[in-house]
Amino acid sequence: MRALIRTEPGCLVWREVPAPRLQGPLEALVRPTVVTLCDIDRPMVDGRFPIPGEIALGHELVAEVIEVGDAVRAVRPGDRVVVPFQISCGACDRCTTGLTAHCRATPPRSQYGFGAIGGDHGGAFSDLLRVPFADGMLVRAPHGVPLEALACASDNLGDGYRAVAPELARRPGADVLVLGGIGSVPLYTVAFARACGAGRVDYLDHDRDRLEVAQTLGARALEGPVPDRAGDYDLVVDGTLLDPKGLPCALRSLRPNGLCIGVTIYLTDPHIPYFELYFKGARFETARVQARAVLPSVLELVQAGRVDPTLVNGAVLPWEAAPEAIAGDVRKPVFVRE
Ligand SMILES: [Zn+2]
Ligand SMILES: [Zn+2]
Repeated sequence: MRALIRTEPGCLVWREVPAPRLQGPLEALVRPTVVTLCDIDRPMVDGRFPIPGEIALGHELVAEVIEVGDAVRAVRPGDRVVVPFQISCGACDRCTTGLTAHCRATPPRSQYGFGAIGGDHGGAFSDLLRVPFADGMLVRAPHGVPLEALACASDNLGDGYRAVAPELARRPGADVLVLGGIGSVPLYTVAFARACGAGRVDYLDHDRDRLEVAQTLGARALEGPVPDRAGDYDLVVDGTLLDPKGLPCALRSLRPNGLCIGVTIYLTDPHIPYFELYFKGARFETARVQARAVLPSVLELVQAGRVDPTLVNGAVLPWEAAPEAIAGDVRKPVFVRE
Protein backbone atom coordinates (compact mmCIF):
# COMPACT_ATOMS: atom_id res chain seq x y z
CA MET A 1 0.00 0.00 0.00
CA ARG A 2 0.96 3.64 -0.25
CA ALA A 3 1.78 5.94 2.69
CA LEU A 4 3.05 9.51 3.00
CA ILE A 5 6.43 9.44 4.74
CA ARG A 6 8.49 12.26 6.23
CA THR A 7 11.89 10.83 5.40
CA GLU A 8 13.89 13.69 6.95
CA PRO A 9 13.07 17.28 7.99
CA GLY A 10 11.61 19.10 4.99
CA CYS A 11 11.10 15.97 2.86
CA LEU A 12 7.73 14.24 2.29
CA VAL A 13 7.27 11.38 -0.19
CA TRP A 14 4.59 8.82 -1.08
CA ARG A 15 6.10 5.39 -0.64
CA GLU A 16 5.06 1.73 -1.04
CA VAL A 17 5.03 0.08 2.40
CA PRO A 18 3.72 -3.28 3.66
CA ALA A 19 -0.04 -3.20 4.36
CA PRO A 20 -1.03 -3.92 7.98
CA ARG A 21 -3.04 -7.08 8.78
CA LEU A 22 -5.32 -8.01 11.65
CA GLN A 23 -3.24 -9.42 14.52
CA GLY A 24 -6.03 -10.37 16.93
CA PRO A 25 -9.80 -10.64 17.48
CA LEU A 26 -10.19 -7.12 18.98
CA GLU A 27 -8.68 -5.33 16.00
CA ALA A 28 -9.92 -3.56 12.90
CA LEU A 29 -8.43 -2.41 9.62
CA VAL A 30 -9.65 0.98 8.45
CA ARG A 31 -9.15 3.01 5.30
CA PRO A 32 -8.56 6.72 6.00
CA THR A 33 -10.89 8.76 3.78
CA VAL A 34 -10.71 12.27 5.26
CA VAL A 35 -7.50 13.49 6.87
CA THR A 36 -6.44 16.87 8.22
CA LEU A 37 -3.29 18.28 9.78
CA CYS A 38 -2.63 18.41 13.50
CA ASP A 39 -1.08 21.71 14.58
CA ILE A 40 2.27 20.03 15.14
CA ASP A 41 2.34 18.13 11.84
CA ARG A 42 3.96 20.99 9.95
CA PRO A 43 6.51 21.74 12.71
CA MET A 44 7.23 17.99 12.73
CA VAL A 45 7.67 17.89 8.96
CA ASP A 46 9.96 20.91 8.79
CA GLY A 47 11.96 20.01 11.91
CA ARG A 48 10.89 22.84 14.26
CA PHE A 49 9.38 20.11 16.42
CA PRO A 50 12.25 17.64 16.46
CA ILE A 51 11.24 14.02 16.03
CA PRO A 52 13.93 11.60 14.92
CA GLY A 53 13.63 9.01 12.16
CA GLU A 54 11.05 8.42 9.49
CA ILE A 55 7.43 9.31 10.21
CA ALA A 56 4.33 7.89 8.51
CA LEU A 57 2.49 11.20 8.70
CA GLY A 58 -1.03 12.01 9.84
CA HIS A 59 -3.16 11.40 12.92
CA GLU A 60 -6.43 13.29 12.42
CA LEU A 61 -8.84 11.22 10.37
CA VAL A 62 -12.19 9.80 9.50
CA ALA A 63 -11.96 6.30 8.07
CA GLU A 64 -14.05 3.51 6.60
CA VAL A 65 -13.99 0.20 8.46
CA ILE A 66 -12.68 -2.47 6.06
CA GLU A 67 -12.25 -5.58 8.20
CA VAL A 68 -12.85 -6.47 11.87
CA GLY A 69 -11.68 -9.25 14.19
CA ASP A 70 -14.07 -11.91 15.51
CA ALA A 71 -14.61 -10.21 18.90
CA VAL A 72 -15.38 -6.73 17.57
CA ARG A 73 -18.97 -5.66 18.33
CA ALA A 74 -19.19 -1.87 18.08
CA VAL A 75 -18.37 -1.38 14.39
CA ARG A 76 -18.81 -3.25 11.11
CA PRO A 77 -17.19 -3.08 7.69
CA GLY A 78 -18.54 -0.06 5.83
CA ASP A 79 -18.99 2.11 8.96
CA ARG A 80 -17.51 5.62 8.86
CA VAL A 81 -15.62 6.23 12.07
CA VAL A 82 -13.59 8.87 13.85
CA VAL A 83 -10.23 7.37 14.88
CA PRO A 84 -8.71 8.89 18.04
CA PHE A 85 -4.99 9.39 17.51
CA GLN A 86 -3.94 7.75 20.78
CA ILE A 87 -4.10 3.97 21.07
CA SER A 88 -6.29 2.95 24.03
CA CYS A 89 -8.02 -0.27 25.06
CA GLY A 90 -11.17 1.23 26.60
CA ALA A 91 -11.19 -1.42 29.31
CA CYS A 92 -8.32 -0.83 31.77
CA ASP A 93 -8.69 1.22 34.97
CA ARG A 94 -7.19 4.29 33.33
CA CYS A 95 -9.31 4.14 30.17
CA THR A 96 -12.50 3.65 32.17
CA THR A 97 -11.70 6.71 34.31
CA GLY A 98 -11.01 9.00 31.36
CA LEU A 99 -7.23 8.66 31.14
CA THR A 100 -7.21 7.16 27.66
CA ALA A 101 -3.89 8.87 26.84
CA HIS A 102 -2.32 6.66 29.52
CA CYS A 103 -3.82 3.26 28.69
CA ARG A 104 -2.15 0.39 30.51
CA ALA A 105 -2.63 -2.08 27.65
CA THR A 106 -0.20 -0.35 25.33
CA PRO A 107 3.26 1.28 25.77
CA PRO A 108 3.35 4.98 26.78
CA ARG A 109 2.79 7.48 23.92
CA SER A 110 1.32 4.84 21.59
CA GLN A 111 -0.21 6.95 18.83
CA TYR A 112 -0.57 7.29 15.08
CA GLY A 113 1.60 9.59 13.04
CA PHE A 114 4.68 10.03 15.23
CA GLY A 115 7.04 7.38 13.88
CA ALA A 116 9.03 5.29 16.35
CA ILE A 117 8.34 7.51 19.40
CA GLY A 118 4.62 6.80 18.91
CA GLY A 119 5.22 3.07 18.59
CA ASP A 120 5.22 2.93 14.77
CA HIS A 121 1.45 2.58 14.45
CA GLY A 122 1.44 4.10 10.96
CA GLY A 123 -0.05 7.38 9.77
CA ALA A 124 -3.38 8.65 8.48
CA PHE A 125 -2.04 9.41 5.01
CA SER A 126 -2.04 5.67 4.26
CA ASP A 127 -4.29 3.25 2.40
CA LEU A 128 -4.86 1.17 5.54
CA LEU A 129 -4.43 1.59 9.27
CA ARG A 130 -4.56 -1.09 11.97
CA VAL A 131 -6.69 -0.27 15.02
CA PRO A 132 -5.58 -2.49 17.95
CA PHE A 133 -8.76 -2.02 20.02
CA ALA A 134 -11.65 -1.39 17.66
CA ASP A 135 -14.44 -1.39 20.27
CA GLY A 136 -12.41 0.72 22.68
CA MET A 137 -11.28 3.32 20.16
CA LEU A 138 -13.58 3.79 17.20
CA VAL A 139 -16.60 6.08 17.31
CA ARG A 140 -19.14 6.13 14.47
CA ALA A 141 -19.37 9.47 12.67
CA PRO A 142 -22.59 11.19 13.83
CA HIS A 143 -25.41 11.47 11.29
CA GLY A 144 -25.94 14.77 9.56
CA VAL A 145 -22.39 16.09 9.98
CA PRO A 146 -20.14 16.28 6.91
CA LEU A 147 -17.12 13.99 7.31
CA GLU A 148 -14.85 16.92 6.37
CA ALA A 149 -15.83 18.52 9.69
CA LEU A 150 -14.88 15.48 11.77
CA ALA A 151 -11.29 14.51 11.00
CA CYS A 152 -10.02 17.10 13.50
CA ALA A 153 -11.98 15.30 16.25
CA SER A 154 -9.18 12.70 16.43
CA ASP A 155 -7.01 15.19 18.30
CA ASN A 156 -7.06 19.02 17.96
CA LEU A 157 -10.83 19.52 18.29
CA GLY A 158 -10.83 17.56 21.55
CA ASP A 159 -7.87 19.61 22.73
CA GLY A 160 -9.96 22.76 22.29
CA TYR A 161 -12.79 21.17 24.26
CA ARG A 162 -10.74 20.03 27.24
CA ALA A 163 -9.06 23.45 27.48
CA VAL A 164 -12.29 25.15 28.55
CA ALA A 165 -15.26 22.80 29.00
CA PRO A 166 -14.41 21.32 32.45
CA GLU A 167 -13.59 24.71 34.01
CA LEU A 168 -16.65 26.39 32.47
CA ALA A 169 -18.82 23.62 33.92
CA ARG A 170 -17.45 24.56 37.35
CA ARG A 171 -17.50 28.33 36.75
CA PRO A 172 -20.25 29.30 34.28
CA GLY A 173 -19.73 32.77 32.83
CA ALA A 174 -15.97 32.78 33.44
CA ASP A 175 -13.98 35.26 31.35
CA VAL A 176 -11.59 33.50 28.98
CA LEU A 177 -8.42 34.63 27.19
CA VAL A 178 -6.95 32.45 24.45
CA LEU A 179 -3.39 33.06 23.27
CA GLY A 180 -3.17 31.86 19.67
CA GLY A 181 -0.23 30.81 17.54
CA ILE A 182 -0.03 27.04 17.40
CA GLY A 183 -2.82 26.88 14.80
CA SER A 184 -6.28 25.35 15.08
CA VAL A 185 -6.45 24.31 18.75
CA PRO A 186 -6.74 27.88 20.13
CA LEU A 187 -9.51 28.60 17.59
CA TYR A 188 -11.43 25.45 18.51
CA THR A 189 -10.93 26.58 22.12
CA VAL A 190 -12.73 29.85 21.30
CA ALA A 191 -15.59 27.88 19.74
CA PHE A 192 -15.98 25.63 22.79
CA ALA A 193 -15.68 28.60 25.17
CA ARG A 194 -18.67 30.21 23.42
CA ALA A 195 -20.62 26.93 23.31
CA CYS A 196 -19.94 26.09 26.96
CA GLY A 197 -21.11 29.37 28.46
CA ALA A 198 -18.04 31.59 28.87
CA GLY A 199 -18.50 35.27 29.71
CA ARG A 200 -16.01 37.38 27.76
CA VAL A 201 -13.86 35.49 25.23
CA ASP A 202 -10.75 37.32 23.99
CA TYR A 203 -8.33 35.91 21.42
CA LEU A 204 -4.80 37.30 21.03
CA ASP A 205 -2.63 36.56 17.99
CA HIS A 206 -0.37 38.31 15.46
CA ASP A 207 -1.92 36.45 12.51
CA ARG A 208 -4.71 38.35 10.71
CA ASP A 209 -6.26 35.23 9.17
CA ARG A 210 -6.66 33.48 12.52
CA LEU A 211 -7.88 36.69 14.18
CA GLU A 212 -10.67 36.93 11.62
CA VAL A 213 -11.68 33.33 12.30
CA ALA A 214 -11.69 33.99 16.04
CA GLN A 215 -14.00 36.97 15.51
CA THR A 216 -16.33 34.86 13.38
CA LEU A 217 -16.47 32.39 16.27
CA GLY A 218 -17.52 35.14 18.66
CA ALA A 219 -14.27 36.26 20.28
CA ARG A 220 -12.96 39.79 20.65
CA ALA A 221 -9.76 39.92 18.59
CA LEU A 222 -6.62 41.38 20.18
CA GLU A 223 -3.94 41.85 17.55
CA GLY A 224 -0.25 41.92 18.30
CA PRO A 225 2.71 40.08 19.77
CA VAL A 226 2.36 38.45 23.18
CA PRO A 227 2.64 41.19 25.85
CA ASP A 228 3.87 40.76 29.43
CA ARG A 229 0.25 40.76 30.58
CA ALA A 230 -2.93 40.86 28.48
CA GLY A 231 -5.61 41.69 31.07
CA ASP A 232 -7.58 40.03 33.82
CA TYR A 233 -9.27 36.64 33.24
CA ASP A 234 -10.61 33.62 35.13
CA LEU A 235 -9.26 31.15 32.56
CA VAL A 236 -6.33 31.66 30.20
CA VAL A 237 -5.36 29.13 27.54
CA ASP A 238 -1.78 29.26 26.28
CA GLY A 239 -1.84 28.17 22.64
CA THR A 240 1.29 30.00 21.51
CA LEU A 241 3.85 28.12 19.46
CA LEU A 242 7.42 28.03 20.77
CA ASP A 243 7.00 31.57 22.17
CA PRO A 244 8.83 31.98 25.51
CA LYS A 245 6.54 34.91 26.37
CA GLY A 246 3.36 32.80 26.07
CA LEU A 247 3.19 31.07 29.44
CA PRO A 248 4.42 34.03 31.58
CA CYS A 249 1.81 36.26 29.87
CA ALA A 250 -0.92 33.66 30.38
CA LEU A 251 -0.09 33.31 34.09
CA ARG A 252 0.15 37.08 34.70
CA SER A 253 -3.24 37.58 33.00
CA LEU A 254 -5.07 35.45 35.59
CA ARG A 255 -7.42 36.77 38.23
CA PRO A 256 -6.77 35.52 41.79
CA ASN A 257 -6.92 31.73 41.85
CA GLY A 258 -7.53 31.63 38.08
CA LEU A 259 -6.65 28.66 35.91
CA CYS A 260 -4.09 28.59 33.11
CA ILE A 261 -4.13 25.67 30.71
CA GLY A 262 -1.27 25.01 28.31
CA VAL A 263 -2.40 23.36 25.09
CA THR A 264 0.98 23.89 23.48
CA ILE A 265 4.11 21.78 23.88
CA TYR A 266 6.93 23.35 25.89
CA LEU A 267 10.18 22.12 24.35
CA THR A 268 12.24 24.24 26.76
CA ASP A 269 11.30 25.23 30.30
CA PRO A 270 9.44 28.56 30.14
CA HIS A 271 9.89 31.24 32.79
CA ILE A 272 7.27 31.02 35.51
CA PRO A 273 6.87 34.17 37.68
CA TYR A 274 6.46 32.17 40.91
CA PHE A 275 6.87 35.09 43.31
CA GLU A 276 4.03 37.11 41.71
CA LEU A 277 1.87 34.02 41.44
CA TYR A 278 2.31 33.06 45.08
CA PHE A 279 0.61 36.24 46.25
CA LYS A 280 -2.08 36.18 43.60
CA GLY A 281 -2.88 32.47 43.62
CA ALA A 282 -2.84 30.62 40.31
CA ARG A 283 -3.32 27.12 38.94
CA PHE A 284 -1.53 25.74 35.92
CA GLU A 285 -2.31 22.56 34.01
CA THR A 286 -0.33 20.98 31.22
CA ALA A 287 -1.31 17.67 29.69
CA ARG A 288 -2.13 15.94 26.46
CA VAL A 289 -5.76 15.64 25.45
CA GLN A 290 -7.45 12.38 26.49
CA ALA A 291 -8.47 11.93 22.87
CA ARG A 292 -10.87 8.99 23.14
CA ALA A 293 -12.41 10.03 26.47
CA VAL A 294 -13.56 13.49 25.29
CA LEU A 295 -14.74 12.32 21.86
CA PRO A 296 -18.44 11.65 22.70
CA SER A 297 -18.88 15.10 24.31
CA VAL A 298 -17.08 16.78 21.42
CA LEU A 299 -19.17 15.03 18.76
CA GLU A 300 -22.38 15.79 20.65
CA LEU A 301 -21.67 19.54 20.53
CA VAL A 302 -20.76 19.33 16.83
CA GLN A 303 -23.87 17.31 15.94
CA ALA A 304 -26.06 19.75 17.87
CA GLY A 305 -24.61 22.57 15.75
CA ARG A 306 -23.15 24.36 18.80
CA VAL A 307 -19.59 24.03 17.50
CA ASP A 308 -18.78 24.12 13.78
CA PRO A 309 -15.21 22.97 13.05
CA THR A 310 -15.56 23.99 9.40
CA LEU A 311 -15.36 27.65 10.48
CA VAL A 312 -11.78 26.92 11.61
CA ASN A 313 -10.75 24.40 8.98
CA GLY A 314 -9.33 25.60 5.68
CA ALA A 315 -9.61 24.37 2.12
CA VAL A 316 -10.90 20.87 1.30
CA LEU A 317 -8.35 19.41 -1.11
CA PRO A 318 -7.83 16.17 -3.05
CA TRP A 319 -5.80 13.41 -1.41
CA GLU A 320 -3.01 13.68 -3.96
CA ALA A 321 -2.46 17.35 -3.12
CA ALA A 322 -1.24 16.52 0.38
CA PRO A 323 2.57 16.85 -0.01
CA GLU A 324 2.41 20.25 -1.75
CA ALA A 325 -0.31 21.62 0.53
CA ILE A 326 1.51 20.47 3.67
CA ALA A 327 4.63 22.28 2.45
CA GLY A 328 2.51 25.42 1.94
CA ASP A 329 0.76 27.48 4.58
CA VAL A 330 -3.00 27.16 3.96
CA ARG A 331 -4.78 27.01 7.34
CA LYS A 332 -5.82 23.51 8.46
CA PRO A 333 -6.28 21.89 5.02
CA VAL A 334 -8.58 18.87 4.84
CA PHE A 335 -7.73 16.07 2.37
CA VAL A 336 -10.41 13.84 0.94
CA ARG A 337 -9.81 10.55 -0.83
CA GLU A 338 -11.79 9.97 -4.06
ZN1 LIG B 1 -1.69 15.98 17.16
ZN1 LIG C 1 -6.72 1.08 28.50
